[in-house]
Amino acid sequence: MTATVGGTRATTESGTASGARATTTSKPVMATVSGTRATTASGTRAETVSGTVTATVSGARSVAATVTDPELPMLTLDELGVLRSVAEDDDGRVVVSITPTYTGCPAMDAMRDDLEHALRDAGYADVEIRTVLAPAWSSDWISESGRRKLAEAGIAPPGSVRRRTGPVPLTLGPTVSRVVCPRCGSADTEEVSRFSATACKALRRCRSCAEPFEHVKEI
Ligand SMILES: [Zn+2]
Repeated sequence: MTATVGGTRATTESGTASGARATTTSKPVMATVSGTRATTASGTRAETVSGTVTATVSGARSVAATVTDPELPMLTLDELGVLRSVAEDDDGRVVVSITPTYTGCPAMDAMRDDLEHALRDAGYADVEIRTVLAPAWSSDWISESGRRKLAEAGIAPPGSVRRRTGPVPLTLGPTVSRVVCPRCGSADTEEVSRFSATACKALRRCRSCAEPFEHVKEI
């Protein structure tokens, strides 16, 4: 990804739809940076180093942001809120931080592999995927566009999670949530099974249009 040309160092990325973009600076990029440069999962901010936009990090982030969830393939890991940050350390290694959704979610290994393959295919040879546990993921982290895509796919998105501080009272009854049918919009729906094709979804049925549908549970 880096090459020294006539005393200047060029940083390029390959494999993107827009072709190779190059950033040239009068001094080595790495020498101007201490620690890591990162773009946050919540935005697509480009990093500026000595007045020059570095294509490498924002490029790696945009590649990582296209990777989809194996269990909810209509959502990217970014929309799911799993992609925390994409950074590059001083040695040119791309470090991707992800946060597990559910405890024991079997898709985590697939997410890790998919991110690694996507970045390698885009020309980032040295990739490390790190797992970040805090703050813990919540279904509230699913973005608005992610919720819209779930509904368009016939899956009811999760409602918002009630935040509590202090002791949490536990009840023995079933969890009651008002879930709207993604097909007809009726609120007259019932839970058929707490689990459906994947552990993160419940199976519900609409009493109005009689269609079964899945619901991403609040957590
Ligand atoms: Zn319905």
